[in-house]
Amino acid sequence: MPSSKKLTHYAIMCFYSQVLRPHERSGIIILLVLAAILVSWSGFGKIQAAVQDDTIRIAIVKSAPEITVAGDGIVVTNGAGEPVSLSIPALVKPVGDGLLVDGTLYKKLSFSSETAVYINNKPYRGSAELSPFDKGIQVVNQLLLEEYLVGLINCEISSSWPIEAVKAQAIIARTYAVNRRLARMGAPYHLESSVIDQVYDGSSIEDSRARRAVHETEGEVLTYGGGVIQAYYHSSCGGRTEASENVWGAALPYLKGVECQYCFSSPTATAWEYKISLKDLEERLRNAGYKISGLSSIKPGVLNGRGRLKQVLVQATVGSTALTGDQFRKVVGYGLIKSTRFTVTTGSKKELLFSGTGNGHGVGLCQWGAKQRALDGFSSDEILSYYYPGTELKKLSEMN
Ligand SMILES: [Zn+2]
Repeated sequence: MPSSKKLTHYAIMCFYSQVLRPHERSGIIILLVLAAILVSWSGFGKIQAAVQDDTIRIAIVKSAPEITVAGDGIVVTNGAGEPVSLSIPALVKPVGDGLLVDGTLYKKLSFSSETAVYINNKPYRGSAELSPFDKGIQVVNQLLLEEYLVGLINCEISSSWPIEAVKAQAIIARTYAVNRRLARMGAPYHLESSVIDQVYDGSSIEDSRARRAVHETEGEVLTYGGGVIQAYYHSSCGGRTEASENVWGAALPYLKGVECQYCFSSPTATAWEYKISLKDLEERLRNAGYKISGLSSIKPGVLNGRGRLKQVLVQATVGSTALTGDQFRKVVGYGLIKSTRFTVTTGSKKELLFSGTGNGHGVGLCQWGAKQRALDGFSSDEILSYYYPGTELKKLSEMN
C-alpha cells in the first residue's frame, strides 16, 4: 500500500505533467523558486531577529527540590500565559511532571516584577520561569541582555579593575552570549549560569562601574567575516594563549593563540601548586573508570606548540596509561590542576607536587593579561584585537 504522502505526490505529478500546458508548467516552476526564496528569507529573518533580540535566557537553577519565590509587585502566569493568583512568597515543589503551590498543580509558572524576582532569596531582573526538570525544578531567568551583563561583570572579574579591562570583559561576555543565543535558538535557555558558559549570580552584585562599562560599549560585539565570534576567555594563560583546536578540536582563525607575558604581573593569579598523595590520586583515577593499581608516578608527556601538555603519563604496576591534559584535569579537578601547563615532582612521602602557571583552558582573552594591558594604557578595542586577531567590533543594531 502506498502511503498517503506517496499518493499526494503521485496526484501532484499527474496534475503537473498531464493537466498543465508547457507554458503553465514553467509558471509553476517560477512560483516554486519564489516560494523557496521566501522560505530561506524567513529563516534569514529569524537569525537576524535572534542577533538583535534584546533579551537572553539563563538557566539559574537546574534541579532544585523546592523553590521560594518572593518580591514586590510580582505578576504570575501559568504555562499558557494566563494570570494566576498566588500568595507571595510562594513555595513551589515538584510533583510528578508538575509544580505544586498551595495545593494546586501547574505545568509551568512564570514570575515577573518591575524591580526584582527573588529566587531562594537571591534577586534577579526580568522574569523567572519555573518548570519541572529531572525530578526537581528548573528556573530560567529571562532578562535584558545589557542588564545581564551588568550583573555578570563582578562574577567574572572585579569592576574595580581599570575601566578599559572592564569594558573588554563587557564586550566579550556580550559576544559570547549572542553567539550562544544564535546556536541555541528555540532551546529552553541560551546559557548556563556557571563556568560551563559564563558565571551569573543575579543582580545583587551590580555596581556603577560595571554599569558604566556595559553602557559605554552598548550593543558592541566582536565579529569575524560578518558573524558573531565564539568569544572564549579564561582567567590567566600563563605565558601564551591556547589554540582552540588543541582544546575542542575545532580550529578558528581568530583563536590561534598569542604570546602573553602580561598575566605574570599578577603572580598569585597565574602560578599555582597542588599536592596530592599517590594513594589519593590512584583512588580518583579508579573512581573515574581507569583500571589501575600500584600508581608509582605521573610524568608530563609531550607539549603542544603552545607549551601545554598534550599528554599526561600515568605509571602504575597494573594499568599504566596516558590521558590528555584535559582528561587529567577533569579526573583530579579543574579547580585543583588549574591548567595543562605544569611540571610534577614526587616527594619522599609518596606525594606528588604539581607546579603550574595559568588558570583555565587558555583559549581567547586572558583576563589577568587584559587587566595588565589596560594598566599599560591600552584601550578595550586594542586589548580585544590583540587576543582575537582579525576580528572587528560592530554594533548589533548595525548588523544585517
Ligand atoms: Zn596571559
